[in-house]
Amino acid sequence: MHHTDICIAGAGIIGLSLALELHRRGLSVTVLDQGTPLAEASTAAAGMLAASDPDNPASLRPLADLSLSLYPAFLDRLHALSGTQVPFHTRATLQSHADASGETFSPEALSKILPQLKPRNHHFTLIDEHSLEPRNLAAALLAAVKSTSIDLHTSTQVLAAQSIGDSVELHTTRGTFHAAKFINCTGAWATHSSLAPGLAVAPKKGQMLAVAIPSTLSLPLVVRTHGMYIVPRTTGPNAGRAIIGATIEDVGFDKIVHLADIAHLRALAADLIPALADAPQLEVWAGLRPSTPDELPFLGPAPDARNQFIAAGHYRNGILLAPATAHVIAQILTGEPSAIDLSAYSPMRPLPATAIAH
Ligand SMILES: Cc1cc2nc3c(=O)[nH]c(=O)nc-3n(C[C@H](O)[C@H](O)[C@H](O)COP(=O)(O)OP(=O)(O)OC[C@H]3O[C@@H](n4cnc5c(N)ncnc54)[C@H](O)[C@@H]3O)c2cc1C
Repeated sequence: MHHTDICIAGAGIIGLSLALELHRRGLSVTVLDQGTPLAEASTAAAGMLAASDPDNPASLRPLADLSLSLYPAFLDRLHALSGTQVPFHTRATLQSHADASGETFSPEALSKILPQLKPRNHHFTLIDEHSLEPRNLAAALLAAVKSTSIDLHTSTQVLAAQSIGDSVELHTTRGTFHAAKFINCTGAWATHSSLAPGLAVAPKKGQMLAVAIPSTLSLPLVVRTHGMYIVPRTTGPNAGRAIIGATIEDVGFDKIVHLADIAHLRALAADLIPALADAPQLEVWAGLRPSTPDELPFLGPAPDARNQFIAAGHYRNGILLAPATAHVIAQILTGEPSAIDLSAYSPMRPLPATAIAH
C-alpha cells in the first residue's frame, strides 16, 4: 500500500513537468507510467514552441503565452537539477499564410533570409519563435526528476481511479496506491481507459522523417506551411539534421510508418527547398498526439470525481505548453488563484456535439 500527496498517471512531458512543479512546492509525488517515461508523444515531437502558429485555436494563446514566459525558468530549473542545459536550436520561423494579406515578404526579401527557398504560391512572414530538441528536453527532465524524491514507477498501468473519502484509490497492474489527489496525464490514452469517462481525448498520429542537411544548404530557421514543417537541429549530436513533419491521421493507436507518407512529406519539403530532395534519410518515426474536439487541452478537476484532475489533450503543442500546464495545475491543487482564466480549458466545457462520441 502506497500513500502520497499526489499521484500522477503518465510520465510524458506533461506528467513529469507537473511532478517537478508539485515537488518544488513541497508535496510528495508519485508518478506511474504503463511503459517507459517519455517514450511516447513527448519524444516524437518536432520541438517547435509554436505559440504563433496560425493553425492554433485563438483560445490557446493565453496558455501558450504564459508557457513561453515560464520557459526560461523551466529550463534553468532542469539545468540546476540535472546538470544538463537544453539549448534552443532555432530562434525564428518562416511561416506561410494562405493569402497575401498582412505583412509578407517579397521574393527578394525572402531570398536574403533563405536563398534556397522557392516560395511557390506561399506568402511567408518571419515569426519570433524558438525550437528545441525534445529528446534533449526529455533526458534533462528525467534526470531532474530522478535527482528528487519523486517516486517514479515504470511498467505500472493505472487501471482505475476511485474517490474514497478524502483520498483517491488507484488500482494498477502493480498493486493499489492511495493519494490525496490524482492527476490523469496519460496523453492520447487519457480517456481510453476508465480514468476519465465522458471526456474526449483521441490519438492523432503524426509521421515524420529526419534527413541530413546537405552541405550546400544553410538552414538556420524553421520553415512551416499549413501541411508541413522543416525543423533543423543546429547544435549537439543531432546538429546537421532536419526534421520534416508531419502527417495528422485519425487511425487510433497505430504507430506504423508508411513509406508512401514519408515520401509525400519529403516531396512537400523538396518543393520549397529543392536541395532536400536527395538529402540522405536518417530516421523515420510516428507518435500519437493527444487531440481534443476543439484542439484545446483539458486542465482542471475531472467531472464527477472528487480529488481527481486531468491535464491532457495538448494535441500539437504539449512541448510548448508543459511549463504553463504544470504551473496552473499546481495553482489549482494548492488553492492559489490561477495566473490566467482557465475556463477555455475546463474539462467541463461544452464541446462540439459530433466529437464527444469517441
Ligand atoms: C509528430 C508529432 C510532432 C509534434 N510536434 C510538436 C511540436 O513541434 N511542438 C509541441 O509543442 N508539441 C508537438 N507535438 C505534441 C506533443 O508531442 C504532445 O502534445 C505532448 O508530448 C503530450 O505530452 P503528454 O505527456 O500528454 O503525452 P505522452 O508523451 O504521450 O505521455 C503520456 C504517457 O502516459 C502513459 N500512460 C498512458 N496510459 C497510462 C495508464 N493507464 N497508466 C499509466 N501510464 C499511462 C504513456 O505510457 C505515456 O508515457 C508533436 C507530437 C507529434 C506526435
